[in-house]
Amino acid sequence: MTGSVPAPTTGSDRLTTDLQAAGVASVVPAASLAASTTLRVGGPARVLVTVEGDDELGAVGRVCGDHGVPWIVVGRGSNLLLPDAGWPGVAIVLGRGFRGLELPTGTDPTGRLRAGAAEPLPTLAVRIADAGFRGFAWACAVPGTLGGAVRMNAGAHGGDMSDHLVEVELVRLTTGVREVCPASLLELSYRHSVLPDDAVVVAATLELERGDPATIRAEIADIRAWRRSHQPLNQPNCGSVFTNPPGDSAGRLIDAAGGKAIEVGGARVSDRHANFIVTRPGATASDVWAVITQVQRLVRDRFGVELTTEVVRPGAWGTGGT
Ligand SMILES: Cc1cc2nc3c(=O)[nH]c(=O)nc-3n(C[C@H](O)[C@H](O)[C@H](O)COP(=O)(O)OP(=O)(O)OC[C@H]3O[C@@H](n4cnc5c(N)ncnc54)[C@H](O)[C@@H]3O)c2cc1C
Repeated sequence: MTGSVPAPTTGSDRLTTDLQAAGVASVVPAASLAASTTLRVGGPARVLVTVEGDDELGAVGRVCGDHGVPWIVVGRGSNLLLPDAGWPGVAIVLGRGFRGLELPTGTDPTGRLRAGAAEPLPTLAVRIADAGFRGFAWACAVPGTLGGAVRMNAGAHGGDMSDHLVEVELVRLTTGVREVCPASLLELSYRHSVLPDDAVVVAATLELERGDPATIRAEIADIRAWRRSHQPLNQPNCGSVFTNPPGDSAGRLIDAAGGKAIEVGGARVSDRHANFIVTRPGATASDVWAVITQVQRLVRDRFGVELTTEVVRPGAWGTGGT
């Protein structure tokens, strides 16, 4: 992602026509992004592109460079809070050309599996279980894509991406070149990576041990049941809004401070899980941001703990969060 520059414009503009001329097939100007995020808030992208191959990604990078506009990769949008003012440049979605799962042949006790970055984690986890590989069941309840999970080092239920990631394939938007990057260079830590800003993850290789498919499917069923009973899955949300401070849980602190009462406009702290913010129709990104800042203030005043956001908040935000 590059720094923010011009304000979003609506309607067709030169950026749109240049992207099309450069060979990008799916180009939508003034595209709503709210529906592309699980919080269901945020303004439009100046242009939304869906790319199917490295050539198109390279073309997007070139045109963004020529126009001096920022880009952002949107996976499932399950950890994104975009401003109501929208995204002033190009929002990039990886299309079906970046999906697929390649399984190892043979019967070795461990195997390498390579998957496209646009693969949704929940279906990938099930396919990997059915193929008889264990260690990735945790991903069944994380509603992002594989690419977003690499960027965030997503994890749950005692596992995360760093456990089994061998290498990632990246297309650098500044060069259009695909590179293979060993996982060790990403410095994956709790919900963090040092993936370069211009790197789009296009594929990832995991090394997993063989296991019994029925046992792994049972593990997945247990995880899903736990999620259904502990998280507000029937309302728009972005999962955990804050990272857990060392040795504690953000949800516990928010709950203990009385944070479940916080509500602004169409956004409020979930009464099921205090580290979740849920929205209803009509909510804005500013509502969500106002809830976030009120929660932070409450927990700071009550416990002296500074909560850090896990949700990614790109774009231009005023001091009021708009
Ligand atoms: C109900 C719910 C439960 C959740 N539970 C968990 C959980 O248990 N554990 C957890 O870790 N997270 C959880 N999340 C958060 C979220 O699902 C993860 O962070 C996920 O990895 C984000 O993936 P995404 O594809 O949605 O990325 P997005 O939200 O679209 O993007 C997140 C960041 O990754 C970047 N990005 C996306 N795709 C790529 C790519 N291909 N290349 C480079 N950068 C990319 C984006 O630009 C952005 O900076 C939950 C979310 C929800 C809604």
